[in-house]
Amino acid sequence: MVLSYNSYRDNNQYFRGDTTMSFKKFKYKRFFWATILIVTFIICCGVGYVHKTEEIKSISYNEFIEKVSNHQVSKVTISSSPTIKINLKDDKAIYVTDNPRTLDFKEFLLLNNIKVEEGTYTSTISILQGILGIAVFSFFGFFIIKSTRKENSKATMGMNMVEASEENCNKFRLHNIAGNEEAKENVFDLIDFIKNSEKYSKYGARMPRGIIFYGPPGTGKTLMAKAIAGEAGVPFYAVSGSDFVQMYVGVGASRVRDLFKKARESKKAVIFIDEIDALGKRRSSSVVAGNDERDQTLNALLTEMSGFSSEEGIIVIAATNRLDTLDEALLRPGRFDRQVEIGLPDIKGRERILNHHAKNKPLSEEVNLNKVAKETIFFSGAMLENLLNESAINAVKRSDEAIKKEDIDKAFYTVLAGSEKKDRSNIRENDRKITAYHESGHALIAKLVAPENTVAKVTIIPSTKGAGGFCINIPPDKMYYTKKEIESQIMVNLAGRAAEELIFGKDMVTTGASNDIEKATSIIKDYVLKYGMSEKTGLINLNAFNSQKNINDNILVECKEHLFSLYEETKKVLMNNMDFLHKIAGELLQKEILCEEELDSIMQAS
Ligand code: ADP
Ligand code: ZN
Repeated sequence: MVLSYNSYRDNNQYFRGDTTMSFKKFKYKRFFWATILIVTFIICCGVGYVHKTEEIKSISYNEFIEKVSNHQVSKVTISSSPTIKINLKDDKAIYVTDNPRTLDFKEFLLLNNIKVEEGTYTSTISILQGILGIAVFSFFGFFIIKSTRKENSKATMGMNMVEASEENCNKFRLHNIAGNEEAKENVFDLIDFIKNSEKYSKYGARMPRGIIFYGPPGTGKTLMAKAIAGEAGVPFYAVSGSDFVQMYVGVGASRVRDLFKKARESKKAVIFIDEIDALGKRRSSSVVAGNDERDQTLNALLTEMSGFSSEEGIIVIAATNRLDTLDEALLRPGRFDRQVEIGLPDIKGRERILNHHAKNKPLSEEVNLNKVAKETIFFSGAMLENLLNESAINAVKRSDEAIKKEDIDKAFYTVLAGSEKKDRSNIRENDRKITAYHESGHALIAKLVAPENTVAKVTIIPSTKGAGGFCINIPPDKMYYTKKEIESQIMVNLAGRAAEELIFGKDMVTTGASNDIEKATSIIKDYVLKYGMSEKTGLINLNAFNSQKNINDNILVECKEHLFSLYEETKKVLMNNMDFLHKIAGELLQKEILCEEELDSIMQAS
C-alpha cells in the first residue's frame, strides 16, 4: 500500500441536550422524598422501641381458659383478627392467643367479669411491617417514576429545546491559531464589528450576518470561530447542523429559534454551526417532495438571520467540509455572504502549527520540526497536533525526559495508519516476504522514477487498521504537477503488484494491491478526463458534459491501455534494478521498518 494522506475526523460534540426537569425542581423532589424516608425510618425505630418495651407472649387457648377461671384476666381485646389480646391483672405483659370466633365468646368473658374491648388489634409488628412495606413501595415507585420521567424528558427535550453549550472563549485568541494567515485577515473586521456594532450602524454599514468557513476537517475552523468570540469578548454558542435535523417536522425549526433567542439575550454573541451541510445541503432536483423537515429548519435559520437589527453584534459562523454541496439560498447576500477558505496548511503553516503545539512539550535537540513539517504534507492542523501528542505519549512510555525522533516516527505511523499490530506471532513467514517485496517495490520505484518525492518510511509492520505494511510516499508540495510526475505517481502505485509478479510469478500475485490499483485508476481517470493529458482523447474535459454517458467503453479501454503500459514500464525498471529490490526487501524482513536515510544508504552502497 502507498500512503500519502489519511483523512482525520475529530469527534467534537458541541451540542448538549439537557433534561427538562430543572435543577431546582429536581432538588426539591429529592428533598421531599428524602424527608419521607427519614420520617419513615424514625417511625420504624420508634415503633420498634415501643415494641421492645411492650412484651408480647403467646399462650395456648387452654392456658387462657385456665387464667380466666383463676380470675387472672383483666381485659380482652377482641376483633376479627385471628388472635385476641389479653391483659392480666398482675402482669404488665400482653398475651395473645387464638381467637375462638364463637358467638357467645364476649358473653362468656363478661360473665367472668372481664373487661371486653372491641376493635382492631394490630400488633406493633404488623404496624412495623405495614410502614416498612409502604416505605419500600414508595422508594421503588419513586425511582421507577423518576427514571421513566427522565427518559420521557430526554425524548421531549431532544425535540423541543436547544441547549447550545455556551463556552467561555476568553482564552482563545487569533494568535493561538498558527498559519491560516489569509483567513485571519478576513475576520479582523468582523471582530471589530461585533465589538463596536453601534459604530457600524451609525454609518449605515451592513456587515455580514453570517460567514462560512470551509475546508477539510481538522484545519482549525472551530478554533477560528472560537478565537473570534474570544477576541471580541462575547459568548460563543456552538451547535452541530446534524442536531437540527430530526425525525419530526418542526422540531429543528423550533430548536433554531431557541438557539437564537438565547443568543439574543446576550446581545452580542458568536453562534457557531458545525457541519452546516447536514442542514443546508443543496436540494436535489430528483426529489420532488423534498425534505420538509430540513427545509423548515433552513428557513427558520434564514428568517432568524434576517431578523438581526444592525446594532446587534451577533454573527453566525457555519463550518463545512464542502462548500459546493451547500444550497445556494444560504449563500445569498444578507445570509452567509462571506465565505472564507481554511485549507490544509502549507509547509510554513505546518511548521508554525508544530511549533505551537510543541511549546509545552520537551523536544529533544535531535528533533527538527522543519523536517517534520516537510514530511507531513497533507496533514491537517488536527493531525499535526495529534502527531505531537502521540509522540509525547511514546516518550512517556519510554520514561524518557524528552521526545526523540523515534517517538515522532512511531507517532507518524499511528496517525497515518492506526497503531501497529502488537501480536504479530501468527503472521506467516511467507506473508511477511510478500509484504516485504511489495513495499520494497513501491519504495524502489519512488526512488528511481520520482526522485523529488520523499519516501518517509517503508514498513512491513501491519497496522490495526488492516494494512499489511506500507510505504509513505510524499510528492513534493507544489502548485502544479507535470504529466510525467502524474505518470510516475501511477507507477509508484503499481509497483507493489509488479514486484509481487516478478518475484513470485504471474499467478501468485495477491489481494494486497487492491488499494493501490484503486488509487492508480482514480489518477488515470483524472489524467484522461480532467487534465486532457491523454493524446488519444485529447484536450477535453469530459466531466464538463456532466453525464456519465461520456465515460464510454472507449475511455475505459484507453485508461486500461495507459495503466497497462505504465505497469509494463514499472516491471522493466524493477527488473533492471533487481539487486536493489532484493536488498531492500531483505533489510525490511530484518528490521521491519526503514526510514529514508536507510533506503538512501542501500541505494548508494551498490
Ligand atoms: P475543524 O473545525 O476545522 O474540523 P478544529 O478547529 O476542531 O478543526 O481543530 C481541531 C484541532 O486541531 C484544534 O483543537 C487544534 O488543536 C488543532 N489545530 C487545527 N488547526 C490548527 C492551527 N492552525 N493552529 C493550531 N492548532 C490547530
Ligand atoms: Zn501497495
